[in-house]
Amino acid sequence: MFTSLSDRLTGTFKNLRGKGRLSESDVNKTVRDIRMALIDADVALPVVKEFTRAIRERATGAEVSQALNPAQQVIKIVNEELTEILGGHTRELTLAKRPPTVIMLAGLQGSGKTTFAGKLGARLKDEGHTPLLVAADLQRPNAVTQLEVVGERAGVRVFAPERGNIGGHDVGGSAEGTRSHGDPVAVARAGLAEAQARQHDVLIVDTAGRLAVDAELMQQAADIRSAISPDEVLFVIDAMIGQAAIETAQAFQEGVDFTGVVLSKLDGDARGGAALSVAGTTGRPIMFASTGEGVRDIEVFHPDRMAGRILD
Ligand code: GDP
Repeated sequence: MFTSLSDRLTGTFKNLRGKGRLSESDVNKTVRDIRMALIDADVALPVVKEFTRAIRERATGAEVSQALNPAQQVIKIVNEELTEILGGHTRELTLAKRPPTVIMLAGLQGSGKTTFAGKLGARLKDEGHTPLLVAADLQRPNAVTQLEVVGERAGVRVFAPERGNIGGHDVGGSAEGTRSHGDPVAVARAGLAEAQARQHDVLIVDTAGRLAVDAELMQQAADIRSAISPDEVLFVIDAMIGQAAIETAQAFQEGVDFTGVVLSKLDGDARGGAALSVAGTTGRPIMFASTGEGVRDIEVFHPDRMAGRILD
């Protein structure tokens, strides 16, 4: 992740080393190189523009002209701006004053929601919480079973329709992709009631996703949101998605108004565009990184550390 962006930026800064003062053409060339590196990393154009504008403004300003070492100063500016587009500061989960804290997951199919539900459950359990996972993805016949497997691996209880006898979930009865095997809104509501009754202090609700943004499923997610009033709605996005990140994120922002982002598959060799675009364009912080298929492969996302890693 980010290796080629990182190499490109470090190469750019190398050219500035040993310069006493930066000329206008030094700054122009640096900004141009940064722009190309970001575009090649699949960062969305509006983000590239805003980023390079900020760098140019600061690199030609007093900040650098007074600096003893302009190269270091430019690196510092790029570091700060990168941190900014990655969300600025670390954002922890908001826990409800009166439990249960309700966390809803949304995102495209295959983005890593179900896997993340298990990881978050395991993490919260380690921290002393008593999470309950709710299988409200009734779109894919296998999704409920998959969440049960994930829950077992994480050592976290799963509330599934057939167990709770809600919604008439038809396991394996229909082909993948066919519509509705029960009422996911009812399942989510019943999951909430279950958490209240059985003293679970956090509820993690997995919802259905589609390969592309789909109006009907977005409405379903919005209905679940209204039914359970979550404290957090986490939008899970595959870091490999590239340029499509913005469009997808904006559709989910409109549809479910998420409160935070989970970047999944950060262990892959994605070029980093999604990571650098989503927080910048939606104004919602990246809260977690999912870094593998295992139940422990989850990290709290720290924008400053990620920027540091990119510029290392
Ligand atoms: P969902 O459809 O959004 O629930 O996505 P899943 O959780 O089923 O994940 C889709 C696929 O991606 C599965 O094969 C997961 O094992 C894999 N996956 C999920 N998260 C990660 C991750 O962080 N890294 C890697 N390498 N694979 C992941």
